[in-house]
Amino acid sequence: MPLSIHLSIHFLVAVLVGYSASLYFKKRSITFIAAIIGGFFIDLDHVLEYFLYYGPHFNLNYFLTGREFLLSDKIHLFFHAWEYIPILLLVSYFLRKRRNLAIFVFTLCLAGSFHLVSDVFINKYPFKFYSISYRASQNFLSSNLLSPEQYQKNLESKEYLGI
Ligand SMILES: [Zn+2]
Repeated sequence: MPLSIHLSIHFLVAVLVGYSASLYFKKRSITFIAAIIGGFFIDLDHVLEYFLYYGPHFNLNYFLTGREFLLSDKIHLFFHAWEYIPILLLVSYFLRKRRNLAIFVFTLCLAGSFHLVSDVFINKYPFKFYSISYRASQNFLSSNLLSPEQYQKNLESKEYLGI
């Protein structure tokens, strides 16, 4: 699936989550901002992954081909993790007396959950792929985390790109 469609799906789902939460909580700007951050900007960990590998140097073409994943042979994706869901739910519960903040954290969590579920379907990764403790247990290694077919595709891309 092209990246533009993938990102549009995330954006649309985030807007829908923001809209539903705004109907429920009657706090339009808070819910929309939280939903866009949790459901769309969660993908900024791809950018983080890039800079972790390349340092302060940016090449859009490298980024778009996911070259850092291919060269490092690792997948961290620090913001993509089921583990944050119960943590954020607890945080929002403990903040319940500060209603706006609690609504923000709750909506962030809801949008993030929808994002991860969409990623499971779009990327055809198993559920456990989006557990950060699982990825850590595999040393974040692509060869352990991807299916043999998906890993083979990485190898072919490397060969194609001559890297
Ligand atoms: Zn994502």
